[in-house]
Amino acid sequence: MIEMDCTCVQKHHSIPTEVIEVSDHAVEKVGDILKAFHRIFLVADENTYLVAGKRVEEILREKGILSHSLVLPSPALPNAENIGKVLMEAGRDREVYDINAWSLNPDYILAVGSGSLNDTCRMVSYRLGIPYGVVGTAPSMDGYASVVAPLLNGRKKIVYNCSIARHIVIDLSVNAQAPYPLLLSGVGDMIGKYVAILDWEISRDRNGEYYCGQIADMVLKATDQCVTAAATLKDRDMAAIRAASEGLILSGECIAFCGSSRPASGTEHMIGQTWEVMDVEEGKVPNLHGIEVGEGTFTAIELFRRLHRETDDMHIRLLIEKYLPAFERIEKLQQKLQIPFTVTDKKRYVEGILRGRTFRDRYTVLQYLYDLGKLEEYAEAVYEPVMKKYFHSTFREQFPDWQH
Ligand SMILES: [Zn+2]
Ligand SMILES: [Zn+2]
Repeated sequence: MIEMDCTCVQKHHSIPTEVIEVSDHAVEKVGDILKAFHRIFLVADENTYLVAGKRVEEILREKGILSHSLVLPSPALPNAENIGKVLMEAGRDREVYDINAWSLNPDYILAVGSGSLNDTCRMVSYRLGIPYGVVGTAPSMDGYASVVAPLLNGRKKIVYNCSIARHIVIDLSVNAQAPYPLLLSGVGDMIGKYVAILDWEISRDRNGEYYCGQIADMVLKATDQCVTAAATLKDRDMAAIRAASEGLILSGECIAFCGSSRPASGTEHMIGQTWEVMDVEEGKVPNLHGIEVGEGTFTAIELFRRLHRETDDMHIRLLIEKYLPAFERIEKLQQKLQIPFTVTDKKRYVEGILRGRTFRDRYTVLQYLYDLGKLEEYAEAVYEPVMKKYFHSTFREQFPDWQH
């Protein structure tokens, strides 16, 4: 269990995660970290099996604690089919089938992968009541230590409560080899935290919503660390990979401490995830989470900048002002990184902002603008500045060979 005393009304935060190991060649330590278990069920996809799963399997087998492995075809989306496959393959029948007994479950599920596999396994873990952990293969999102998982159910994307990882093992030499779109996705997921915390501050002041300053500060610090690291990520500089990996994990930890994704998800996620959902509704494979959130972040920043210029609500103006330097840094970072866009059509872009307001029951600047009767006007107005300042290419143009 990871614990922290706090100055907020909760006074104390804790999560059931026992070990977070972020180091070079961390994979080699998996056998020792999981030595208390006896029948570990390993789940990977074809790609993650090659980069880490095979080695993890060897180590667990040598220790005599591997039950069996399942390698899903890549890309393994966190959908009902894959969750079903993991569930069906989780139990090993007893040597002699006993009609009076249940199948023999593993005592631990180990996901080897990043966002999708982690989400798939923690849903199965939660449903079966078996602990799980993850060997991360890419710093692509902050969900390793998260409490919820957005899963694909038919043409819907639904957020479910799930288990929290007991063990998180991040091998920096594996992360350093991650495909570049996944690294960009991690940055995209992280830069939005400034917006998320600003939204949280606004809701605290307008609605009296619970707010934890210590958690907010931790998230902001982790974000600063990631933004600095992101500038040299393309060269796969080890210090940058470490900073990005640690920042994403810390953000996930803060979500778990808080018991909700409030510290890590605001306007930018609600817009980005709406675009994701629009694809899902149309039967398309959704884009990388952090890439959508990156575009959502640039959009949120321009909404806030416009509000800052136009509002006569001094309190809001001062709150936004605190974040303007961070917004500047993100704009500069984007000139260098050129995180691609997924939505460039104006109608679709605006629809994402408007529908994003009610994506989940969370007060953000979108609701603030809606209550003023200005959301539509703002959604239309930010399109051009966002495209002009932040757009460099579409995801397809930048990564034509990328398979989801
Ligand atoms: Zn607190
Ligand atoms: Zn996210």
